Amino acid sequence: MKFSTKAIHAGQEPDPSTGAIMTPIFQTSTYAQAGPGEHKGFEYSRASNPTRCALEECLAALEDGRYGLAFASGMAAENAVLSLLNAGEHLVSCDDLYGGTYRCFEHILRRSNIETSYVSANSLAAYEQAIRPNTRLIWVETPTNPLLRLIDIQAVAEIAHRHKLLLVVDNTFASPYFQQPLHLGADIVLHSTTKYINGHSDIIGGALITNSDEVYEGLKFYQSAAGGVPGPFDAWLTLRGLKTLALRMRQHEENARAVVHFLTEHPRVEKVYYPGLASHSDHELADRQMSGSGGMVSFLLRGTFADVDRVIRKFKLFAYAKSLGGIESLVCHPATMTQGPIPKEIREARGITDTLLRLSVGIEDIEDLLADLDQALAT
Ligand SMILES: *Cc1c(COP(=O)(O)O)cnc(C)c1O
Repeated sequence: MKFSTKAIHAGQEPDPSTGAIMTPIFQTSTYAQAGPGEHKGFEYSRASNPTRCALEECLAALEDGRYGLAFASGMAAENAVLSLLNAGEHLVSCDDLYGGTYRCFEHILRRSNIETSYVSANSLAAYEQAIRPNTRLIWVETPTNPLLRLIDIQAVAEIAHRHKLLLVVDNTFASPYFQQPLHLGADIVLHSTTKYINGHSDIIGGALITNSDEVYEGLKFYQSAAGGVPGPFDAWLTLRGLKTLALRMRQHEENARAVVHFLTEHPRVEKVYYPGLASHSDHELADRQMSGSGGMVSFLLRGTFADVDRVIRKFKLFAYAKSLGGIESLVCHPATMTQGPIPKEIREARGITDTLLRLSVGIEDIEDLLADLDQALAT
């Protein structure tokens, strides 16, 4: 089956008891059993729930993986991955990272004496050099947030496997429609399903997909033991949202390209970051590892924070809000929002200055989006 067919059908058989075409919301905590040890595969909804199982199977199919697991948030999914590490071990990550992930590495893992080394996103030699005898995994996010740099997943996977490490790829920004890291050698794919996968800004959720039996067992154990699972209604909303993932991603990309074109020509814009731009430093890699560049666009405004502040307040359609990947357009100020948990010196050294803005380009009519940008950027 191809992508959209999987989104609509994988894990989603008509309900055998009624014929209902849509997966029911099994809003139940527990399941009647015939007797000791005799049940229909479900015992308690923290361990498994039929609506969540349908979602998990569909998520696995979209990444072309064997196993999918759904979580209550992207961060809950991240913590499941990190539960594979033991106290005193080490991980290597890229430096242009979602702020919440950085906070988790620095403030939760450190308490277990687990250290993280951060390397410049696309310096392959740096990944290799950062590996220590106690390193267990490499964690990358590509495209990165918010500068949309790319990391060569295949090359990093080779390094990871040469050192017997796991490679984790946070695929939230690309979505499985534009990038499938398992095909490029990743061991675990992570999503904040809050973003493109659900796509309608009405749930918080996370997911992990893997092909490895051993990794799956560890993650599944943690999911049930730690308990950060989504409720049946959120699982159902996510399943409903992801059916249109391909359609939405194509429109996000088409609109993003028009926005990029508009911004590139605009006198108040100093620089535009978008992997699909021929001038982007990782453009060639984008062609190789992604089938599209997605809907995220970042840009530097000429001027000071006061100018940025004025522009933000003038937007009428682009809502000033955290998050991304929904059908509606959003504008965010990374230095004070998503990258807020990162200390200012570290943030600025990574290029995330006060005049950087990030757009999550929605699927509204492009004429309206461009008109909004035009009036917001007018002096
Ligand atoms: C939002 C996000 C997360 C965290 O996910 P939540 O659903 O907010 O917990 C992780 N990684 C990336 C790239 C994100 O954008």
